[in-house]
Amino acid sequence: MCGVFGIFGHPEAANLTYLGLHALQHRGQESAGIVATSDGEQFSRHLGRGLVADVFDETILQERLGGHRAIGHVRYSTAGGSHAQAAQPFAVTTARGPLAIAHNGNLVNADSLRADLERDGAIFSTQSDTEVVVHLMARARAPRLEDRIREVAAQLEGAYTLLFMDQTGIIGVRDPEGFRPLILGKVGDAWVLASETCALDLVEGKLIREIEPGEMIHITQDGLRTERLYHLPDARRRACIFELVYFARPDSRIFEQSVYEARVKMGQRLAEEAPVDADLVIPVPDSGVPAALGYAEASGLPFRHGLIRSHYVGRTFIEPKQSIRAFGVRLKLSAVRSVLEGKRVVVVDDSVVRGTTSRKIVGILRNAGAKEVHLRVSSPPTRFPCFYGVDTPNRAELIAATHSVADVARYVTADTLAYLSEEGLHTAVGDPLGEGRRYCNACFTGEYSAGRSLIQSRLPVVRE
Ligand code: AMP
Repeated sequence: MCGVFGIFGHPEAANLTYLGLHALQHRGQESAGIVATSDGEQFSRHLGRGLVADVFDETILQERLGGHRAIGHVRYSTAGGSHAQAAQPFAVTTARGPLAIAHNGNLVNADSLRADLERDGAIFSTQSDTEVVVHLMARARAPRLEDRIREVAAQLEGAYTLLFMDQTGIIGVRDPEGFRPLILGKVGDAWVLASETCALDLVEGKLIREIEPGEMIHITQDGLRTERLYHLPDARRRACIFELVYFARPDSRIFEQSVYEARVKMGQRLAEEAPVDADLVIPVPDSGVPAALGYAEASGLPFRHGLIRSHYVGRTFIEPKQSIRAFGVRLKLSAVRSVLEGKRVVVVDDSVVRGTTSRKIVGILRNAGAKEVHLRVSSPPTRFPCFYGVDTPNRAELIAATHSVADVARYVTADTLAYLSEEGLHTAVGDPLGEGRRYCNACFTGEYSAGRSLIQSRLPVVRE
């Protein structure tokens, strides 16, 4: 995944970008970076591994990153591994002056583009697919930046929400299918581009609108200019449904809807599709909370907090020598015995990926005295990897790719297990299944759109 934030025309551009990135921290914890400029000539950049609050301090923001415009990025390692050099934004000097680039998404044809560029003499310093965009931009011929971006975009297959900063302003681009969100807002007179509205809320900005799939918006001193990328003018929208299931923050509005309300509806629908005779409903915090509320509401069962999440879990922890069962999950989640003891419990989570977390959670609940544990998942079985920027493991590791629902239930040791149907999920987000659907659901169905033939040649065959 990843998050992007850009601002034009604000005296505290870097500081607001820092805050915006902080609000987008859930989209990537691997590294963070900001490129700022005051005069358009001199770009200053600071990047680091880790969380936004750890990468930046006051001196860096105020002394090194001055200026009226900035773009920033938080990175979740997908393509390109977790190397320090892969931190973004990239900043380079091209024949036409300085250029900074931040990317959310994943290019399906990055390898072949890279091989072509290398054959032509390009030297890469990272494994990141975004560096391919940097090289393509440096080679593009058109005099106008917008036309160079178009020239480059026409060669890209996959998911890309991109922010650029050049000598004149900042540019935001959303790929023709619009997999990843990008919103436009204002803070006073300054323009903001951000992955999610929660970033805008933190800086007291006002939402103007969403950038359309296939739209490019150029913000300069003269104001806003918007254009379409010329390829795929009638693009079919394919916003990522998993953003609404899990990835985006529930207080955000993306794809023209409230993430929180969408999740509540998923839970309500799940209760209709897969009711249980039980005593109470509990969420897996935090991701399962809105769906569990919806489930409880629709089923009439009481909602309780049966699992408490620690907010202080770091990246690595020193385990005691004598092993503690399910140590990692227990550090993060602990059970409330008084809620669970002797009870038939419905536990709601947003997704099951490998199945290892659910298995541990069911164990924790039983240990705390739950009499029955019924796992309800507010999305369909994750059976296919994402090539558009969500960090899903390869197919062999996705438990639902190779196991039936009954097998998964046995593996996670739940009394019963049910997933939300594909139809139920699409209904919950107001996108009826069928020819006109507007959301990408490839992780559930294997129906890829951008770069389909490349993806199919890469998918390993797994025995179902
Ligand atoms: P597991 O089945 O053990 O792989 O873990 C599933 C849990 O991870 C669910 O509770 C989700 O909330 C969460 N999850 C789902 N997708 C992702 C992702 N791409 N990155 C991180 N966590 C995820």
